Amino acid sequence: MPNRSKGSPVGRIYLDNNSTTSIDPRVAAAIEPYIREAYGNPSNLHSYGRECAEGLAEAREQVAAFIGADVEEVFFTGSGTESDNWAVKGVACAVGPGKHIVTSPIEHGAVLGACRYMGELGWKVSLLLVDGYGRVDPEAVRRALTDSTALVSVMLVNNEIGTIEPVRKIAAICHERGVLCHTDAVAAVGKIEVAVDDLGVDLLTISGHKLHAPKGIGVLYVRRGTEIHPFIHGGHQERGMRAGTENVIGAVGMGKACELLRNEWREDAARMKQLRDRLERGIVERIAEIQVSGHPENRVCNVLHVTVGYIEGEALLLSLDLEGVAVASGSACSAGEGDASATVEAIGISPLFRNSPVRFSLGRDTTEEEIDRTIDVFEQVVGRLRDISPLWTNRSG
Ligand SMILES: *Cc1c(COP(=O)(O)O)cnc(C)c1O
Repeated sequence: MPNRSKGSPVGRIYLDNNSTTSIDPRVAAAIEPYIREAYGNPSNLHSYGRECAEGLAEAREQVAAFIGADVEEVFFTGSGTESDNWAVKGVACAVGPGKHIVTSPIEHGAVLGACRYMGELGWKVSLLLVDGYGRVDPEAVRRALTDSTALVSVMLVNNEIGTIEPVRKIAAICHERGVLCHTDAVAAVGKIEVAVDDLGVDLLTISGHKLHAPKGIGVLYVRRGTEIHPFIHGGHQERGMRAGTENVIGAVGMGKACELLRNEWREDAARMKQLRDRLERGIVERIAEIQVSGHPENRVCNVLHVTVGYIEGEALLLSLDLEGVAVASGSACSAGEGDASATVEAIGISPLFRNSPVRFSLGRDTTEEEIDRTIDVFEQVVGRLRDISPLWTNRSG
């Protein structure tokens, strides 16, 4: 176990739920029998195998019910990253060489990386422009489509700034031209309605550890009849589409987490929105020269992304951590790389602000006391860093 004694004496505050979430105790309880007793291989016909196959089948039903899919359209994978890769490469392989993909510059690295790879293999890849809120214009999607376009992939919610993308409109435009539409819904589930028929998408990605299930489990929803090749070859698991002995523990956790969300997400979301708005008001009122990113209305309830002028993001993150407040600077996936995040780049934040993106992502356990303490700590830390920042001292105007 990690050494927890270094935490803040008043308790740590976790505001990085878009990087990962805690495992819900009820999810842990659902998993436990599969850790301790039911260790069979679901492919086996004996009772050990069957009890695991049953757990897997129930999990698939729970996921399907949550996103409004049929069970045959739900495929378990090893992560959200794998689901994104499979959607892009699996469709590309089914369509044949040298076709065209359309995506946005603010996608998760899993989609962008897979598209870049297809580019290396001779596919044409178009990156749509986004506006200052990070919104993709559906009409820009229409203009980008050509006779050789095979797939459009636009995320439902941007994980860094929380902007909600007009995916339903984008999917409708795709279908007018017979083009498949994938959406990465990892940062959307639990915050807004995610229903595959309402969205009209052909493929949709979710990830377990972003919704209070374990890490190492993802789902790709594939609408019946969609032409897609398998991504992992080998055994006949997942109806021949994703080989490898199933992660029963992960899948059972994912299923339980989806069942819980189905009943609880609206209430959770309303509470997170209240707290996020409180955090935003507190910070904006108390700190000068700070900008809030993302769309004012079309933004998920749990994200506050700000850029703080005249200081450096890494120093800010580490100072907050010393005070026991865990946030993200840019996105977790780009941490340590030292580049400005692609999203921050794409929405055109001015250079004085670009270096200090801070993402607060609330969870369903976040409390009002935590928010109020975070506002105090943030004000102190920004003040301290600005006191020693020549940029701040020498600023004009
Ligand atoms: C976290 C995340 C992923 C990747 O999911 P993993 O299960 O961590 O691989 C993909 N897309 C978005 C938007 C994410 O936030």
